[in-house]
Amino acid sequence: MSLVAPLNNPSIEIQEMNERVFNFSAGPAVLPLPVLEMAQAELLSFSSAGASVLEISHRSSHFQEILQTAKQQLARLLGIDDQYRILFMQGGSRLQFSMVPMNLLQGSSRSAGYVLTGSWGRKARDEAEREGKVHVLWDGQSTRYDRLPRDDQLEFNDDSAYVHITSNETIEGVQFGSEPDTGEIPLVCDASSDFLSRPLTINKYGLLYACAQKNAGPAGVTLVVIREDILQENQSSFSLPGYLNYREHINNDSLYNTPPTFGIYLVGLIANWILEEIGGLEKMAALNQEKAQLLYDVIDQSEGFFHGHATCESRSSMNVTFRLADSEVEKRFLEQAEGNGLCSLKGHRSVGGIRASIYNAMPREGVVSLRDFMWDFAQQNG
Ligand code: PMP
Repeated sequence: MSLVAPLNNPSIEIQEMNERVFNFSAGPAVLPLPVLEMAQAELLSFSSAGASVLEISHRSSHFQEILQTAKQQLARLLGIDDQYRILFMQGGSRLQFSMVPMNLLQGSSRSAGYVLTGSWGRKARDEAEREGKVHVLWDGQSTRYDRLPRDDQLEFNDDSAYVHITSNETIEGVQFGSEPDTGEIPLVCDASSDFLSRPLTINKYGLLYACAQKNAGPAGVTLVVIREDILQENQSSFSLPGYLNYREHINNDSLYNTPPTFGIYLVGLIANWILEEIGGLEKMAALNQEKAQLLYDVIDQSEGFFHGHATCESRSSMNVTFRLADSEVEKRFLEQAEGNGLCSLKGHRSVGGIRASIYNAMPREGVVSLRDFMWDFAQQNG
């Protein structure tokens, strides 16, 4: 069945729902089916607008409603109070790698502490170094980023402008179990690949950012949660270009320029799905833990056939990374998985092997299918 229909053909063929595969992509990633269905139902005309969300002005009352509702739902989910602002931005998390040090470090005599638990944390550090003084608090490179620091390995310098962590390293599959306690130093977190997957102790954070395309929405919108007072420290940020200054986004309530309107609409639908259909972040986290455990159990019980990349204590509930005996077997694994409707399981080139990204919207049935496939494959090839 062709997905491409002539534009003037009113009977556009829509792919049957049962043709959807289990999509283990690391991002852009699977979205909740009820959210896609809602977006589909509302696509041609949103509410009483008589036009698509894609077509209405970001200044219109309909879009205002979408924006304010999305913010309220996120605030409810995360338990955010008035000290924090929620911003919808563009430029992905990569832009945040630069905006964070531009706003909090540039021109300051202080330095920023970076905890390097994987590839993304390193990239964040590299960008920060362009803007100011950086010190690395811990670096897991010597064990190929297979673990997190123990609490006693992290020593914070009270005079730091901020401390930066990556709560979940998407490529290596290691995830902080809880936020490190940085005391008075603002904690800045790249939460790109586990945002909305579990509850947060929000008051531990000065700033949190996440590109949406894993758990929270489509590519093109990035969420920033910021405690407003951390901006007061650094006066030199007043001279930043408009878009790069958090203050502009706060003062304009995410409408400094035309925001990614459709993306924000989808983020709102997803927040609503977690609240109303899942029952909140505690429940979301329990479901995610249970899914991840299904796969880690296979790895642990396979007598070395599958070899997990992350150490047990550091395992991610979002990205399950593992190797097989050699690249030939891995290739066969991927081909056969694909044949069984289990798609996008190839690991990132820097770690190799397999990566199953099992974000919020990956149904339990998808993970059960993968688990059963892994057992069958091990039996046939072991
Ligand atoms: N940080 C993490 C943890 C990520 O997983 C990613 C994307 N995979 C990024 C940053 C970069 O995000 P973007 O491509 O939206 O800039």
